[in-house]
Amino acid sequence: MPDATRSTETSGAVQTEVGSLSFEFFPAKNEVGDAKLWYAIHRLKNLQPGFVSLTYGAGGSTREHTFENCKRVLAETDLKPAAHLTCVGASREDINAIAKDYWQAGIRHIVALRGDLPESMGGVAGHYEPHPEGYAYSPDLVAGLKDIADFEISVAAYPETHPQAGSSQADIDVLKQKFEAGADRALTQFFFDPELFLRFRDRCAAAGIDKPIVPGIMPVINFKSVARFASACGTTMPAWMKGLYDGLGDDETTRKMIGAALVVEMCRRLKEEAVDGFHIYTMNQPEMTIAICRTLGLRHDAGVA
Ligand SMILES: Cc1cc2nc3c(=O)[nH]c(=O)nc-3n(C[C@H](O)[C@H](O)[C@H](O)COP(=O)(O)OP(=O)(O)OC[C@H]3O[C@@H](n4cnc5c(N)ncnc54)[C@H](O)[C@@H]3O)c2cc1C
Repeated sequence: MPDATRSTETSGAVQTEVGSLSFEFFPAKNEVGDAKLWYAIHRLKNLQPGFVSLTYGAGGSTREHTFENCKRVLAETDLKPAAHLTCVGASREDINAIAKDYWQAGIRHIVALRGDLPESMGGVAGHYEPHPEGYAYSPDLVAGLKDIADFEISVAAYPETHPQAGSSQADIDVLKQKFEAGADRALTQFFFDPELFLRFRDRCAAAGIDKPIVPGIMPVINFKSVARFASACGTTMPAWMKGLYDGLGDDETTRKMIGAALVVEMCRRLKEEAVDGFHIYTMNQPEMTIAICRTLGLRHDAGVA
């Protein structure tokens, strides 16, 4: 686990113990988006997360951007970048070349994934077929990366089971294979019922998994777009949540306040059950993540974010 800290008191603010804190960003498609991304990274770096991860667009569509942004994180900040890398639609040769480039550039942490299906493969409704010369599933990718270099590796886990899994037990068996292949931690798909995560964590422990399962935390700003995304990835949106956002239209300030309050409540429940790490999907918007981390005492310093 990166950067474990102890309870400390800094400038009057009591810091709670934080096992790991990490932030996820997505590479931008244009200059305006790029400026937003970098504004977010620079503001959030003061919270000193253990790492920041940069996603990889479906089917490798952000290949260059993910790489360039990871290099920029190394060059311009003290943060440790983690590059998402997916094997869908790519040959082993291609993936291995990318991984070698990362290692040579000093990027030591990969979030290793099968990947979402690009539109050319049918998108969310598509049927996954491994590339004939590729890594078929993420446990194979993890093993391949470990053969290339001693990367730190995070993988994905699904508290509500991956939509294409044969069963929830089969999905946990796959997760176990990812750890056996060399993964260091799992970052979960987002969820809104903390009990779902806690039960999943119990099932992982019962399967003999003893590596960290870090909850993926999604602060909801736009209910409709998160609901769309949730239905594609098998996350349940509790019916009561919709009512909280109903009628708020373009009142983004209030929507953000609600989103932050919900996440704080959920994380408090997780902390009661000794969950000591969080992976926050920042959506490249720093304010909610800052508010959430400050409220929960998830700050490694008293720096002004
Ligand atoms: C934290 C996080 C970050 C993500 N970042 C990205 C990103 O940057 N880019 C992107 O495109 N997507 C990303 N995703 C989405 C992810 O790529 C999709 O959920 C994808 O559908 C599955 O990827 P995986 O690595 O979990 O796949 P896998 O672990 O390979 O599993 C995929 C499915 O195949 C099944 N399976 C695995 N092995 C076998 C086997 N041997 N035989 C039969 N079935 C098997 C599993 O049970 C599961 O149903 C992310 C997801 C998470 C949780």
